[in-house]
Amino acid sequence: MPKIRLEIVTADRLIYSEDVDSFIAPGISGELGILPEHANLVTILDTGVLTIVKDGEEDYMAIAGGYMEVQPTHAVILADAAERDSDIDLDRAEAARARAEEAAKNTTNIDSQLAAEAALKRSLVRIKVAKRRTNRTRKPPTQSAG
Ligand code: ATP
Repeated sequence: MPKIRLEIVTADRLIYSEDVDSFIAPGISGELGILPEHANLVTILDTGVLTIVKDGEEDYMAIAGGYMEVQPTHAVILADAAERDSDIDLDRAEAARARAEEAAKNTTNIDSQLAAEAALKRSLVRIKVAKRRTNRTRKPPTQSAG
């Protein structure tokens, strides 16, 4: 089965570099499903969830906006921030959400309002991704005998 190499980098490090089956990226105007042999594409990414399918298994990452360049065999995501589900500190994300909600309520300055909304969006995406990890690792319910 053909694969596409997916690299995710931030300003200071390489976060991910694997040959994957496909992935779904949070494009600025909607989700973008990318398969091997995709046409060349350069686009802006929104803050959102990146879903990666590798060897038939799904993984999730939180992406805090950035750029994506796709070629038929290779894709690069240059993200402002990116965390694998296992690297997300859920308590920190919950605290960031509370701070951002408070800041959004208490400011009338448009720049501060926009910054609070962006911080809120980042925190909500991190919470969503961290909870998907929790759901995936939770044991299936045991069936009762009768
Ligand atoms: P906070 O207010 O908690 O710092 P933030 O949205 O301001 O959140 P960013 O500026 O987007 O944080 O990210 C700064 C760095 O911290 C990045 O390297 C990012 O990957 C990391 N980071 C942010 N929040 C979390 C989290 N909840 N768990 C793990 N890493 C995080």
